[in-house]
Amino acid sequence: MRRLLVLGGGTAGTMVANKLRRRLDRAQWQITVVDQNDAHLYQPGLLFIPFGGYSPEQVVKPRRQFIGAGIDLVLGEIDRVDPEANVVLLADGQRLGYDYLVIATGTSPRPDQTPGMLGPLWRHSIFDFYSLDGATALAGALAAFDGGRLVVHIVDMPVKCPVAPLEFTFLAEAYFRHRGMRDRVEIVYATPLSGAFTKPIASAQLGTMLDERKIAVESDFMVERIDDDTKVLVSYDEREIPFDLLVTVPLNMGADYVARSGLGDELNYVPVDKHTLLSKAHGNIFAIGDANNIPTSKAGSVAHFSTDVFTDNFCQHVAGQPMTGSFDGHANCFVESGDGKGMLIDFNYDTEPLTGSYPIPVLGPFGLLRESTANHWGKLAFRWMYWHMLLPGRPIPLPAHMSMAGKHQPAVQQTTDQQTTESTSRKAGQS
Ligand SMILES: Cc1cc2nc3c(=O)[nH]c(=O)nc-3n(C[C@H](O)[C@H](O)[C@H](O)COP(=O)(O)OP(=O)(O)OC[C@H]3O[C@@H](n4cnc5c(N)ncnc54)[C@H](O)[C@@H]3O)c2cc1C
Repeated sequence: MRRLLVLGGGTAGTMVANKLRRRLDRAQWQITVVDQNDAHLYQPGLLFIPFGGYSPEQVVKPRRQFIGAGIDLVLGEIDRVDPEANVVLLADGQRLGYDYLVIATGTSPRPDQTPGMLGPLWRHSIFDFYSLDGATALAGALAAFDGGRLVVHIVDMPVKCPVAPLEFTFLAEAYFRHRGMRDRVEIVYATPLSGAFTKPIASAQLGTMLDERKIAVESDFMVERIDDDTKVLVSYDEREIPFDLLVTVPLNMGADYVARSGLGDELNYVPVDKHTLLSKAHGNIFAIGDANNIPTSKAGSVAHFSTDVFTDNFCQHVAGQPMTGSFDGHANCFVESGDGKGMLIDFNYDTEPLTGSYPIPVLGPFGLLRESTANHWGKLAFRWMYWHMLLPGRPIPLPAHMSMAGKHQPAVQQTTDQQTTESTSRKAGQS
């Protein structure tokens, strides 16, 4: 028997195991998934919990419900990988051998990495919504908030779902407005980026939306520490942002065992080839989902699109053939913007989020970089899709690679492309 071991039974690990179970001969391949617990958390749902949109019960289901027949699930904390011996050691002493390893242990918020964050104000005036207990505690804090300065803050990039802090800010603005107390709440968005988002066109659009909602942006803010006595965020360049209520996205890091095993970069992400997801150091280790270091968003959509390319590649690789699939960094994310509306962004390694419609040109139904109620309903419908289609690994009629169909090219890029085409035709004419 050949052994495939998948570390992490979250979004990516579950999809990979279920898809590969259908492709790999059961008489020849044993597939095992390891996770530290049996609770699968639908993380996009965390955004709505602070505002009472979802209850905790709606976002958690037993993990083994989604691990298909013919796949073993081992519950236990991963302590270390020995890539020379092809063995994974669990904290309880179990040793699991493998022929091929897929690392899918994601990324986690690490409030312990910022001095002062886990001090006396933690879960009193400082909250996160990237964990279930944080989002649940924040619901109580928002309901009790009587006015003052709300600061929404990101420690550093990359964070999973980099639009989630913006979505939280838009929803908080609408929430206070609907409660009739918006004039008593000052909202500040503090980000280490130089604008609202990582890519210029989306950043300009999202920046305008913050402006329209009278939300101040504190950009290039690299937090050094939190002063719990004065309730102030202090940056490395000695700027200070006071807060009454701080909603922070702590530093996101890959799992510590990745570092202990010598497999990670400085944030514990596994360096991989960005097109095949094969480890740069080991020919029988792949890393998929948030656990790797590919230069696109850390998002469930990336886990999904890359899994489609990965499964074909994996089957070729184990058959001794060259991998012909090439992942393009395709990501798409709904951006909830409040008042029952949302936007959608769709991009990859080479193309930044553009305006237009998705997935069908002109018809949509989703608008790119444009607020609409259809986008909001798309975001809500995604939870059903996640449990019933994505996790079981069922085919979804959305291509894994990003398409330019329906997208509006910006004038500058159009001109550049035109020039390239013209210059190519001139050269072709000359030759
Ligand atoms: C607030 C929020 C909103 C989001 N919204 C969106 C959205 O709208 N759209 C979108 O596409 N994405 C969104 N995401 C991101 C998305 O949820 C993640 O990108 C996705 O879940 C990544 O999948 P993964 O399998 O790589 O990691 P995960 O799903 O996090 O799975 C990792 C698994 O590894 C396990 N694990 C970790 N360490 C160990 C260990 N040492 N031992 C054993 N097991 C371990 C964990 O228990 C977990 O089950 C959001 C995330 C958050 C936090």
